[in-house]
Amino acid sequence: MVDDSFRRHVEELERQTLSRYATLSVNSRGREHELPPCPVRTVFVRDRDRVVHCKSFRRLKHKTQVFLSPAGDHYRTRLTHTLEVSQIARTIARGLRLNEDLTEAIALGHDLGHTPFGHAGESVLNKLVPGGFEHNVQSLRQVEKLENGTGLNLTFEVRDGIVSHKKDGNPCTLEGAVVSLADRIAYINHDIDDAVRAGVLDENDLPESCVAVLGDTHGNRINTMILDVLGVSFDKPYVRMSEAVKREFDVLRDFMFERVYLNPVAKREEGKGMHVIEQLYLYYKNHMELLPGEFAKNIAEDGEERVAADYIACMTDRYAIEEFKRLFVPMEWQ
Ligand code: MG
Repeated sequence: MVDDSFRRHVEELERQTLSRYATLSVNSRGREHELPPCPVRTVFVRDRDRVVHCKSFRRLKHKTQVFLSPAGDHYRTRLTHTLEVSQIARTIARGLRLNEDLTEAIALGHDLGHTPFGHAGESVLNKLVPGGFEHNVQSLRQVEKLENGTGLNLTFEVRDGIVSHKKDGNPCTLEGAVVSLADRIAYINHDIDDAVRAGVLDENDLPESCVAVLGDTHGNRINTMILDVLGVSFDKPYVRMSEAVKREFDVLRDFMFERVYLNPVAKREEGKGMHVIEQLYLYYKNHMELLPGEFAKNIAEDGEERVAADYIACMTDRYAIEEFKRLFVPMEWQ
C-alpha cells in the first residue's frame, strides 16, 4: 500500500485556499490513458514535470524567438521566452488564487510545436502543408502524439490550455486564459528589450502614452500589466486587463509590428530561413524513406505531407541549417 498522504494534503490545500473559479487537481477530466496516481504529486504537477523532462522542451533553447539564431548571448530564445511566460503566468495565477501548477504546466508546454526560425518558419509550412500549419495545434500534436513516439499522456486541462493559448483561443479553464495573456505580456516586453539591444529600436521612441500609463522601464511595464490584471480579475470568472491598460497595450503592440516585427532590418535573415524550411519540406516530402521511424510510422494515419511537416517542425534552427547544408550545399571532398 503506497502512502499517498503527501498528495492528498496538497489536494486538500487546493480545496481550502484556491478561488471558486480555480481548477482543482481532483476535478481534472483526466488523461487519455489512465495512470496509477503519484503518491506525492498532483496530476498537474506531474504534467509540468513530464513537459520539463521531454526532448522538445530542451530543443526550445535553439529555436528563434524574434531575432534569428542570434550571435549575442543575451537575446531571448524560444526557451527563455517560455520561462518568462511561465513566471508571469504563475504570478498572475497566484494573485488570483488559481491553480499555479496547472498554469505552469500549460505555460511550459505552450510553444513546444514551434518551427525553426519562429513565425517565418510557421508561415512557410502553413502555406505548403495541406490543411495548414499553426504552432499551437502543433504543440498539441507534439504532446499528444509525437513526443517519444507516443505523446506525453497529459491531462485534458493542460492539452486544452496549450492548443488554446493564441489570442483568439478560448481555453476552458481560467489557468489557460492566464497563460494566453501572460504570453502576450511576456513577448511584447521582452521583444522591446531585444530590439533595443539589437539597435533596431531606441527606448525613447516608445509611444509617450504607453510610457506614461505602463511605465518607463521593462520591469515597470510588466509590473503594471500584472497588477492591472489582478485588480480587474480578482474573484471574477474571467482574466483580462482594464480598458485603459489594454488600450496602451494595443498601441504598443501596433508600434512593435510597425517598428520591429515587420522591420526589414530585423527581418533581414528571415527570407533565408523561409527558404531553408521550404527546401527541406519539399525534399523530405519526396524522400519519405529517409525519415526516422518514430515519424514514418504516422504516414498511414496522417499522410506524407503532415509527417514531413512534423519532422521539419521538430528541428532546431541550427539543425535545419546543418541539414540544408548537407543536402544542398556542395562540400569539399574529404
Ligand atoms: Mg509563446
